[in-house]
Amino acid sequence: MSTIPNMWIKNLAFYEPGRPIDELARELGLSSADEIIKLASNENALGPSPKAVDAMQRAASNMHIYPDGGSFYLRLALAQKYHVDMDQIIVGNGSNEIIEFLAHVYLQPGSNLVMADKAFIVYKLIAPAYQAEAITVPMVDLTHDLDAMLAAITPQTRMVFIANPNNPTGTMLSQDALDAFMDQVPASVAVVFDEAYIELLPPDRQPDTMAYVKSRPNVYVLRTFSKAYGLAGLRVGYGISTAENIQLLNRVRQPFNVNAMAQEAAMAALEDDEHVEIIRKLVIDGLAFLQNAFEEMGLEYVPSVANFILVKVGRGRKVFDALQQRLIIVRPMDGYGLPEYVRITVGTADQNRRLVLVMKQLIEEGIIEK
Ligand SMILES: *Cc1c(COP(=O)(O)O)cnc(C)c1O
Repeated sequence: MSTIPNMWIKNLAFYEPGRPIDELARELGLSSADEIIKLASNENALGPSPKAVDAMQRAASNMHIYPDGGSFYLRLALAQKYHVDMDQIIVGNGSNEIIEFLAHVYLQPGSNLVMADKAFIVYKLIAPAYQAEAITVPMVDLTHDLDAMLAAITPQTRMVFIANPNNPTGTMLSQDALDAFMDQVPASVAVVFDEAYIELLPPDRQPDTMAYVKSRPNVYVLRTFSKAYGLAGLRVGYGISTAENIQLLNRVRQPFNVNAMAQEAAMAALEDDEHVEIIRKLVIDGLAFLQNAFEEMGLEYVPSVANFILVKVGRGRKVFDALQQRLIIVRPMDGYGLPEYVRITVGTADQNRRLVLVMKQLIEEGIIEK
């Protein structure tokens, strides 16, 4: 006798995360992981705000107490920042958890979600967990094709996901394109804007999707502390929608889904605009450096507005392996149907320089192919 799992679970695909530094150190038999650089998961090259680190240290001695399950003070701070009601906000164990809440609330056998074919892969992975379908709409120039996505909506469509800026392409949609889409999308379809990288853009270049939340009943905006705020290890993200919608998500949320230290650190990080400003600048300079180097090397790349960049290297998996042998972790892109590319997270100036030196060696060795 064996147990009787839901039959569709066995066929679910695994998410392939960026390889942890320690895992590579173990694999290569290194006694220390210090020399390894990870440019694989779009983490913040500068680390967390010092104010967030202080907050965590102060919180440490209270960790015998359960967290505030409703993340009251964090939601209060976010509500003030966005000029919405606290009841319009839900905090998650990363914004990934909120994607899961959405799936729980909206998907069932026979239903579908609509997404771009090279958008964040998590949307595609979650649909079959609910025996639902992910309809993937081809991108044009590695950018969401919103007209085609509208055309792909069926009576069974419950959600449309738009990652803006998108991971892994680093491309972004304009306000005009979003406005035109919102004017046509059926009100019965939940529109989910995943804005994990939005704070890396200067404020005047960030599309205003909060206006849709305020004027429509079917819009969710997801944001995270994992990227611009440098708190990926703590797992804290949030979603904003109408109070009615947020109440639906709360029904499938575990009572203590976000830990107490994460709540404290997130509140402190939220107050440190200066730190975000420094990261923005580091990313802009780093992108310019990398794009310039790729041009010098004669490598094609996809101009990016986020803290990572797709570069065409021939056989992506092979280059990923070769870089790992040289202690640099990047991300292969075959899972996204881009086998000729790797995705590289913008690092510190030193890390970027080291990466470029190694890439030049790989070109000489014929491992990177133009
Ligand atoms: C990194 C990322 C997230 C954030 O995930 P968390 O669970 O908040 O760490 C969400 N969406 C996209 C597109 C991302 O790249």
